[in-house]
Amino acid sequence: MDSDYVFKILLIGDSGVGKSSLMLNFTDECFTETYISTIGVDFKIRTLEVDGKTVRLQIWDTAGQERFKTITTAYYRNANGILIIYDITDKDSFKNVSKWLEDIDHYSNEKVYKVLVGNKADLHPKRAVDYAEAKNFADTHNISLMETSAKTSNNVEQLFATLASDLKHASENGHI
Ligand code: GDP
Ligand code: MG
Repeated sequence: MDSDYVFKILLIGDSGVGKSSLMLNFTDECFTETYISTIGVDFKIRTLEVDGKTVRLQIWDTAGQERFKTITTAYYRNANGILIIYDITDKDSFKNVSKWLEDIDHYSNEKVYKVLVGNKADLHPKRAVDYAEAKNFADTHNISLMETSAKTSNNVEQLFATLASDLKHASENGHI
């Protein structure tokens, strides 16, 4: 079935922050297409309904290349949305968000829609990154922030639903 909208979404961030877990939490119960390319990237699909329209999200996971800093042009090509993920219990993963943003600027379309995601929010007793600090950073870069837990599913559905809705609107308005 054709969808009204199709968007390519990338998951970016340090190794271990929960990129694969977030993707699987969101796409788990759905039909899955796995694409094994020579650079080891694969994606999963889930279609959401937004305002009576079908929005197909093609969600790409890095398959671990972030460890070797080998994510380049092929992964970023034609991306519509990028989730930059850090782990709220890992300060370094938050500090590295700046580096990921530089890579995004370098490799992707300037119109790509970005969301900052603080994952592992269920581990709040071990929190190392304050919400306020992350919010301040996100505001400075003019991107939105959401805290999630791939373990408890908290905010995961909301994260992708908001993304799908925002991308649909951006697409209608010619912003992406
Ligand atoms: P990736 O390297 O970014 O793809 O990270 P993974 O999805 O492989 O997750 C790394 C580790 O963190 C795994 O042991 C996951 O079970 C764990 N993890 C991922 N998300 C969460 C979360 O929201 N809460 C908790 N407590 N653990 C998580
Ligand atoms: Mg992974």
